[in-house]
Amino acid sequence: MPQFTSEALVLRTYRLGEADRIVVFLTSDRGKKRGVAKGARKTRSRFVGALEPLTHVQVSYYEREHRDLVRVNDVEMLRSPWSALDPDALTYVGYFAELIDEWAPEADPNERLYRLGASVIEAMVVGTPTERLARYFEYWLLRLQGVYPSVLACHGCGADLQDDGARLSARDALFLCPGCLGGSQGPALSPASIAFLREAARARPSSLGDLSWSVRVGRELEAAHHVLITTHLEKELKSMRVLKELRH
Ligand SMILES: [Zn+2]
Repeated sequence: MPQFTSEALVLRTYRLGEADRIVVFLTSDRGKKRGVAKGARKTRSRFVGALEPLTHVQVSYYEREHRDLVRVNDVEMLRSPWSALDPDALTYVGYFAELIDEWAPEADPNERLYRLGASVIEAMVVGTPTERLARYFEYWLLRLQGVYPSVLACHGCGADLQDDGARLSARDALFLCPGCLGGSQGPALSPASIAFLREAARARPSSLGDLSWSVRVGRELEAAHHVLITTHLEKELKSMRVLKELRH
């Protein structure tokens, strides 16, 4: 049985029988894997603490021929989102993990997605403001999939969207200037929101605290990203509903 060792992000686990767990994790080099962690449900398990969603770990696993499930041999915690400085961050852990899980196909290496996830965990630990981090994460996740619409120029006439802001057209999920919008009424982005996105395209997540931000920018980006994510995934994420309920 070939053994592999790599860094990985834990995405989720579920029970298997009396004592074991199945772990879903995104490796840095070989894509998303599913594996059995023997004895992970026992209180004295060597896996305790390392299998929480969004934990950055070093994992060793065996692959078995003609089996989809790998066997997880050892998991060592490198960084835990539970050491985040902003307590709000913890309400987003499940959401971030679910987004990565949805967008990472099985066993298809995606180093950029892995690096995005790892840098977001790092930013949580150093106390980056959570809402900004969440909008940044959604923005980059959609960009890596190639589905985030351009925030530079109106898709209809090419006008600079920074001038009068933009609206997401509900029909084709593209940003249009107010003049080109017609009857399509998707979420609006003010010039300040467009400015945040343009800066976020170049910023590291741990430096998001320096970018200008307001409650309004937060609301606008959340609404637009919600439409983009549900349009491209063709469903609403479970953790998205949970987040909404926590806040209302
Ligand atoms: Zn236009």
